[in-house]
Amino acid sequence: MRKISVGILGATGMVGQTIIRLMEDHPWFEVSEVAASERSTGKTYEEAMKNRWSASEEIPEGVRDMRLKDAKPGLDCDIVLSALDSSVASEIEKSFAKEGYPVSSNAKNHRMDEDIPLLIPEINHDHLELIERQRKNRGWKGFIITDPNCSTIHMCLALKPLIDSFGIEKVSVTTMQAVSGAGYPGVPSMDIIDNIMPFINDEEEKLETEPLKIFGSEKNAHIQNADIRISAQCNRVSVRYGHMEALSVKFSRKPDREEIIDSFKKFSPIKKLGLPSAPDRPVVYRKEENRPQNKLDLDIEGGMASVIGRLRECSILDYKFVVLGHNLVRGAAGAAILNAELLKAKGYLE
Ligand code: NAP
Repeated sequence: MRKISVGILGATGMVGQTIIRLMEDHPWFEVSEVAASERSTGKTYEEAMKNRWSASEEIPEGVRDMRLKDAKPGLDCDIVLSALDSSVASEIEKSFAKEGYPVSSNAKNHRMDEDIPLLIPEINHDHLELIERQRKNRGWKGFIITDPNCSTIHMCLALKPLIDSFGIEKVSVTTMQAVSGAGYPGVPSMDIIDNIMPFINDEEEKLETEPLKIFGSEKNAHIQNADIRISAQCNRVSVRYGHMEALSVKFSRKPDREEIIDSFKKFSPIKKLGLPSAPDRPVVYRKEENRPQNKLDLDIEGGMASVIGRLRECSILDYKFVVLGHNLVRGAAGAAILNAELLKAKGYLE
């Protein structure tokens, strides 16, 4: 099978380099182009990443000597994965879609557009139906799909089995988010070392609104938002990777504790699609009283799972628990790759 060629926009950033690392030896895809800002263009990928490559593995051989190009249409690839800074993502992604490229984006810019899917394959792959409406509305040959905010993804994966089995009315969530969530160089070290910052720009709004679209029902290429109330409080904490989220949930029908754990264990909704990056267990429940932890549990299922623990009754809502997830893998790069795999499996990359 000919591999599908992939261009990476924002290839030099935290998310872009994670895409490159995860894409090494991918069975369906190969990186054919890397693009970034004019600060990087013309350099080889290795030159541009001097003192910035953050993985323990070396830069993959096939990418090391590629020259970085401008992030504009004309790249030689079948699909682009965008890890662009949100200050520039909107116009650049639209220009690619207009010129016929499928775009799988990590950026926030188009997530809430009515005709653009906001996807988590395990939850709402039927929202791909928006693509045809998008093309028609905008007169584009290509299209844009998006993945959710890095905290939203993990919260939604944890909630989905509960919604399916018992229904959910209200969620209160407090996040403790890693520094790498702000990109590179991100939060100044003087601001974050030995500190907790109780504010992340726009983050609480994303956690409160994106899930309503993700859990929304699709009919005739329109999404009817889900009827759930979410209240979010977001904090930046002094860890490098991984977002921890403490949730309290009010159910439509209050289940037993064992029923909840059982619903997590049984959750494996897209196995039959055979997507190479899909984890066998999208949610993993840890029964130890002191897990999950950033230091120990971020690499479960290669960073593609949401790891849950500390399930107990809540005296205000029904139950509370914590969710831990890798912000750069399932929270960004791995999500954009999985969405691209979904496009391939559903015939959108022919
Ligand atoms: P980052 O480390 O700051 O990287 C930003 C990338 O955008 C770099 O490759 C940069 O290229 C490129 N860029 C900036 N200005 C540009 C321009 N004018 N033209 C073309 N390229 C330009 O940020 P990140 O953390 O990787 O995040 C990338 C995107 O993913 C953002 O939209 C972010 O909100 C989203 N996201 C991030 C995370 C996370 O955990 N970090 C999670 C979910 C979603 P140069 O190196 O040449 O400047």
